Amino acid sequence: MQYEALRNEVVETARSMLEKGLTVGTGGNVSVRCPDSNRFLITPSSLPYETLVPEDVVVVNLEDASYEGRNVPSIEYHLHRKVYLARPDVSAIVHAHPPVASVLAALRKPLPLIIDACTYAFKDEVKVAEYGKPGTIELAENTVRALGDNTGVIMANHGILCVGENLEEALGRCEVLDKAALTYILSLSIGTPVCLEPLCDQD
Ligand code: 13P
Ligand code: ZN
Repeated sequence: MQYEALRNEVVETARSMLEKGLTVGTGGNVSVRCPDSNRFLITPSSLPYETLVPEDVVVVNLEDASYEGRNVPSIEYHLHRKVYLARPDVSAIVHAHPPVASVLAALRKPLPLIIDACTYAFKDEVKVAEYGKPGTIELAENTVRALGDNTGVIMANHGILCVGENLEEALGRCEVLDKAALTYILSLSIGTPVCLEPLCDQD
């Protein structure tokens, strides 16, 4: 089987996303860029993460969006493809539906850099992408625009997407985003949180 190790990583990351409470059911999706070609691996659509095996992972061609495998890819393969095309520095993507960051998604409220962990995980405040229906090109384009050169983005009324050099990094950023969202919402309930400057803006 081609890309066996990477396929395993995709499956393990998808399971971790569920176990860490960053999504519910079959929500969210995970992908990784193939290092040797113009392709990426992505979780299949709507299959339970608990029983996913490496053979279920789908290979998508970055150039023409064609795909191969025994399953159909995640409905968000346009989203993942457009992020990889726009961001040559990105090698892994996790899209999740975490409970607390989804509050910000519903309010369409960006997450400022309110704790130190945010400044290491994100280049700047995490912006909110305009709404697009799941699986659409519109959602993909809105999300890529709001992501810009940052490492995370909130998707209006939907969830979040984080990128990284590898899957561990992308998943870790999803955890930071959801935890920081909780800190932010609690801070707002009793006062006005003080926000940090991006690390790149500091001397
Ligand atoms: P898939 O199961 O097709 O990946 O869809 C889940 C999702 O999060 C859609 O936005
Ligand atoms: Zn989703």
